[in-house]
Amino acid sequence: MGNSTVDFATLGENFFSEIACQPLKNAFLIHKNQALYNKLGLDWNDQTLLKIASGEQSFQGISPIASVYAGHQFGHFAGQLGDGRSCLIGQVSHNPPLKGQINSHELSLKGAGKTPYSRGADGRAVLRSSIREYLCSIAMQGLNIATTEALTLVGSDTEVYREDIETGAIVMRTAPSHIRFGHFEWFAALGQKTEVKKLADFVIEHYYPQCQGAQKYVDFFNEVVKRTATMIANWQAQGFAHGVMNTDNMSILGLTIDYGPFGFLETYNPKFICNHSDHEGRYAFEAQPGIGLWNLSRLADSLSSLIESKQAKTVLDNYQQYLVKDYSELMRKKFGLVQKDEQDNVLIGQFFEVLYRHKKDYSNSLRQLSNMDKLEQDADFNEWIKIYDKRIAQENNPNRIEMMNSINPHYILRNYLAEVAIKKAENDKDYSEIDTLFNLLSQPFEVQPNLEKYTNEAPDWAQNLEVSCSS
Ligand code: AMP
Ligand code: MG
Repeated sequence: MGNSTVDFATLGENFFSEIACQPLKNAFLIHKNQALYNKLGLDWNDQTLLKIASGEQSFQGISPIASVYAGHQFGHFAGQLGDGRSCLIGQVSHNPPLKGQINSHELSLKGAGKTPYSRGADGRAVLRSSIREYLCSIAMQGLNIATTEALTLVGSDTEVYREDIETGAIVMRTAPSHIRFGHFEWFAALGQKTEVKKLADFVIEHYYPQCQGAQKYVDFFNEVVKRTATMIANWQAQGFAHGVMNTDNMSILGLTIDYGPFGFLETYNPKFICNHSDHEGRYAFEAQPGIGLWNLSRLADSLSSLIESKQAKTVLDNYQQYLVKDYSELMRKKFGLVQKDEQDNVLIGQFFEVLYRHKKDYSNSLRQLSNMDKLEQDADFNEWIKIYDKRIAQENNPNRIEMMNSINPHYILRNYLAEVAIKKAENDKDYSEIDTLFNLLSQPFEVQPNLEKYTNEAPDWAQNLEVSCSS
């Protein structure tokens, strides 16, 4: 083992394997998240950054590690999974420390080669899926949704075999922890209660220090339930569909993690399925809140040696209330409403019905609500606007428009926008579009001069873009 280590490694060897990264051929830096880089207090020169970000050089002599986890995939227990193509390469602390926040951040590479958990796959990530992960990480951050962050995007000449020959890429992810529900499920499935307890104690000590009382496991579980509810409330409010809400893709910190076939709602449709392989619609947009609860129930099962089932049930019963509270607050704000009114749910519901009937764009329609002149006015829209006008007149809030524009994004990561950036990168080695989107999405509420076309809805060629699982 290297002389320094990451906190996770103190859990002991049942939890991970030391690995060697398999660097990419002719790696080159495509993009770096400068703000995150500064926040983490990093000051590598470009050459060192590239070497670390491409798996060629270790970080402070630390041996990279891949962790073992399990998970329920599409409703079924899948047995042993694990970091099949990602690994922890180090850990950094914010400098200066962030007040009241977890100060340490793990650095993780995705696509740096095979690990003992690769299960016959190649341990790689292709350029297109890495671009999508890189851009969505900043998009979620911009929307104030809890997420793992992406520090760098590296491309290469390494050939990767999917349906076609593609090239390999690596995203460096950062988060206080990348632990998933599935980590608990693995040890619970083996009947290793000591390891389940060790993992829970580790997570509480490092990431939930407020949960140290007599009921620490119950309090911890309640916090996870709450954070998961908050995360999903934000997904629903901002129209984000994750696409693969398996329990191995659920963060114990309530972060959005593992960007794959995600998609933002464009044309409003609550049954929207972004993952082309999800034939049953298990992870359809409107199903996400329910799946969140199902996943938390699987976490409760794996914590059953620490929390009595009756208590776990009481905590799970809080989920809906947490989610509805956050979602209602977000939606009220999106509609520019401050005071609570019993009828607001009806008003909001009717708006969505109009969007659905007229196949309107979710984000653009909400954004345009603060600027009614822009709304294309169909007859039943006019009816709705009359009621809405009355409702906002009641409040007469001088900050209404400002408030709405601070929560209704002007720019979202539309699939076709990502696709244009991907095609330019793949075909012409032109990475400028990645930078443009990165900048727009990092401040999605700010209107940028001359970039109005990035609010356009999908052109015809992009109507049937398909995205499926791991690539
Ligand atoms: P995902 O659908 O990306 O969340 O992946 C599910 C599981 O498959 C995880 O354990 C991944 O580490 C693993 N996996 C996905 N793609 C690859 C790959 N190309 N090589 C090795 N393991 C992979
Ligand atoms: Mg995953």
